[in-house]
Amino acid sequence: MSRFSLEENQKILVTQSSLPPIEEYIEKIREIWDTKWLTNAGVMHNELQKELENYLGVENLALFVNGHQALELALQALEMEGEVITTPFTFVSTTHAIVRNGLKPVFCDINTRDYTIDVDKLENLITDKTVAIVPVHVYGNICDVERIDEIAKKYNLKVIYDAAHAFGVKYKGHGVAEFGDMSMFSFHATKVFNTIEGGAICFKDKELESKITGLRNFGIRNEECIDLVGSNAKMNEFQAAMGLCNLKHIEEEIQKRKSIVETYRECLANSEVVILEEQENVTSNYAYFPVLLESNQKRDELYTYLKEKNIYTRKYFYPLTNDIECYKDYDCNDTPVAKNVASRVLTIPLYADLDKDVAIMICKEINNFLNSKNE
Ligand SMILES: *Cc1c(COP(=O)(O)O)cnc(C)c1O
Repeated sequence: MSRFSLEENQKILVTQSSLPPIEEYIEKIREIWDTKWLTNAGVMHNELQKELENYLGVENLALFVNGHQALELALQALEMEGEVITTPFTFVSTTHAIVRNGLKPVFCDINTRDYTIDVDKLENLITDKTVAIVPVHVYGNICDVERIDEIAKKYNLKVIYDAAHAFGVKYKGHGVAEFGDMSMFSFHATKVFNTIEGGAICFKDKELESKITGLRNFGIRNEECIDLVGSNAKMNEFQAAMGLCNLKHIEEEIQKRKSIVETYRECLANSEVVILEEQENVTSNYAYFPVLLESNQKRDELYTYLKEKNIYTRKYFYPLTNDIECYKDYDCNDTPVAKNVASRVLTIPLYADLDKDVAIMICKEINNFLNSKNE
């Protein structure tokens, strides 16, 4: 066992943003002073778009100021009315994007295997008002994309993935954005790949491009034509420059995360916390490391115990989106598995520069806590 301990005042947060070496960023943004072009489809914006299309293996990608706007405006571009099936075990953004488009979210439960939408419960929720499915690749775990595809075809539904957690993830060798009609990625500071804030929508139907990019810029088509009630959601050049720099280091970033995850798996293998198995046929990005405690009480106690040791974990996702004030017409008892998982889950610190000794120490503290409970 490692004798490592934290220094006084040293805090281990649940995540830490990855930054490129500062010289690389400075060199990149120096070009902005040459062109004096700060936003509105600048050189770096366009370069990042191309590089990401390449990296993600998609043909159409539009960059946004953040992931939420990408999802909200992508849904707007589809001009739908009616019900959208999604899950409550997600960040509130997913549900907000649906509701802010005047669509009605219908919450489907999740499965216990990987906490993504339970495809066995999905079909029962489809009504004649259902127009789309918005599944979430939670923690970077891939939804059952094949079954979702079958169901969507059978009922003629659109599929828009919230892939905010799934940057760079592959299923059977295919980039995750190859599935469904659209996929949204978030490049928020805390995600595997960041542009400070930022996001993108990948879409199959090339014809949607002008609508999506129009909605991103007030609906302005040209100097005299404004034909959409758009928003302002453009990615600026400083964000794009950060993206270009971070993208150069993405493989190393993911490898470092992988090695922390391997340490966690090893050190928690005989512990009573439940850890998810690795998904078959999936190349992971090691975005998050959730553990499941025996009960809600134990989860909350462990959270506090670790916090007192300066280790900050997160009850992610808790509360469920069908259990928060602004959606109080919904009942989280309708999604019992999600309710149960949300009450017992804790994500533990995971980021590329997390020290292996710290990861070992975190596991030791988790095991200490559990042992003390069993005495
Ligand atoms: C981060 C996140 C979003 C929102 O992305 P932003 O870039 O922060 O706007 C949406 N859905 C999920 C699941 C997320 O984790």
